[in-house]
Amino acid sequence: MKLLLIAGHGAGDPGAVGNGFQEATETRKVVAALAQALDGCCDVATYPTDRNAYSDYKAGQLTKTAQFARYDYVLEIHFNAVKASTTDGKTKGTEIYVTTAEPGTEVEQAMVAAIAAVGLTNRGVKRNNWEVINQARKAGTSSALLEICFIDDADDMAIYAAKQSDIVEAIAMSIIDGFGLQRPEQEQEETMTYEQWKAFAQRYEAEQAAQAPSQWSAADREWAENNGVVAGAGKKMDYMSHVTKEEVTAMCHRTYELVVNQQ
Ligand SMILES: [Zn+2]
Repeated sequence: MKLLLIAGHGAGDPGAVGNGFQEATETRKVVAALAQALDGCCDVATYPTDRNAYSDYKAGQLTKTAQFARYDYVLEIHFNAVKASTTDGKTKGTEIYVTTAEPGTEVEQAMVAAIAAVGLTNRGVKRNNWEVINQARKAGTSSALLEICFIDDADDMAIYAAKQSDIVEAIAMSIIDGFGLQRPEQEQEETMTYEQWKAFAQRYEAEQAAQAPSQWSAADREWAENNGVVAGAGKKMDYMSHVTKEEVTAMCHRTYELVVNQQ
């Protein structure tokens, strides 16, 4: 599964502005966090964040830069704004657009539902041939444009600011589940066999044993070796490895006999 993430606006175009946020900045934060969340689950590429995909489209540069046909899914991230930036305090929530040519919208429906579960209103899946996602669709690649929430709505942006990582997780999980990808932590839990655990434990023991003993025990070690309390004086003692009950028993017994013999 090859995924292309596009952060909306940028390269001099701030996009919508509201509540102390700038769209181009936030789309880049979300795209970076999404790429990290999906790392290891699929092949994630990010459209150059110093570029503006829509400007590139108008300049005839988009398809050359994006190479849409190389991907299985293209997700463009935006933040919404009420027309003419006159916020009404009522228009809020998350919505996602696919082109009129997109055959199915299961992934997109799940995505806005997952974002809504974090606390934003679900405005659903809509269809519009926005130019960037339209070019992807024309190249044969499924595409969607997600409007995370309304940047000019104070309630939306308070939720976004407080739950940004939950929103990113919701988007990532809907892609992972929607495309049947493996969740990274699950993969690790399931593939750790007893034999692998044993190999790790043995490696750890060997690493511990290879450590040089601490200076504070120098006199104790010298006494123990000279008096035969620890066996094999002059050999490798593995002082920093773990001790078994039988070794403790043997050392106790040797110490006892040493004391008795000295009386
Ligand atoms: Zn936008």
